[in-house]
Amino acid sequence: MRVLVTGGAGFIGSHLCDRLVAEGHDVVCLDNLCTGDLRNIHQLQGSPLFRFVLADAAEPFNIAVDRVAHLASPASPVDYSRLAIETMLVNSVGTYQALEVARKNGARFLLASTSEVYGDPLESPQGEDYLGNVNPVGPRACYDEAKRFAEALTSSYQRIHGLQAVILRIFNTFGPRMRREDGRVVPNFILQAIAGQPLTVYGDGTQTRSFCYVDDLVEGIYRALTTDAAVGEVINLGNDGEMTILALAERVKEITGSASDITYMPLPEDDPQRRQPKLDKARNILGWEPVVSLEDGLGSVAKWFQENPA
Ligand code: UDP
Repeated sequence: MRVLVTGGAGFIGSHLCDRLVAEGHDVVCLDNLCTGDLRNIHQLQGSPLFRFVLADAAEPFNIAVDRVAHLASPASPVDYSRLAIETMLVNSVGTYQALEVARKNGARFLLASTSEVYGDPLESPQGEDYLGNVNPVGPRACYDEAKRFAEALTSSYQRIHGLQAVILRIFNTFGPRMRREDGRVVPNFILQAIAGQPLTVYGDGTQTRSFCYVDDLVEGIYRALTTDAAVGEVINLGNDGEMTILALAERVKEITGSASDITYMPLPEDDPQRRQPKLDKARNILGWEPVVSLEDGLGSVAKWFQENPA
């Protein structure tokens, strides 16, 4: 396959590029480096199968490929608040540009959507048929509503142009190459624990998340790119091991052997109270299952941060 990966220098995008090249596919990685980092793709730069293009996915572009994986977007609440307009543009205009590349080349399209389309869900776990509970004017709206738009635009291309597309709703994912300053809970807690600083739990820590290790996620994305039965489907990808944020803080302390305290800070506005994916579709259509334990995953991230100091 020849695959365009937008956002290919980002956290998940770079792991996807690694996997595609390892499988012998040609990869064009497009990134404007607004939250991506060239260090994430350094290991690929000499490969004849890999090409990096420094460009904004919201600008027009064309390239002959047979798969388009549209991952470009700021993805942490801290990043997308800081880059709210860029986030809306890359998920609206950028999705349009990426869909046009797919349409012009007869390529299959993969949209990296998000569990955030479910907002602060009123039912749990969340199946793909749940329509969501999103505040359209809150601080997370720039991401949630833009991803909802991206899903709607992708669906319109399927209906009008007969485009072959798969929409993946990606739940909380963690792993090496998360930025130290991206503000998400896993890098924050691990870096705080390693430094012996208090772990900052927002709210009372009873809100839940379900954390998927990046290798598992990339396996799911790879299968979605290569499985015919995935075409036309919306599929949750993540890990269904739900836990409270307070429990995560305790686990991080155990795994890093840290004596850090836990400190409580205000809960951000519209912070979802519960989040857990239903994974039946991923299991049935992709034959996929997350296999990396939370302990192993957190251990790998802690090691990576220690080996890659700021
Ligand atoms: N959180 C926290 N402390 C932090 C960072 C995040 O308690 O230092 C909480 C946050 O309020 C949310 C959860 O951890 O309830 C996951 O936050 P994250 O930003 O990682 O991702 P989200 O799922 O909210 O997009």
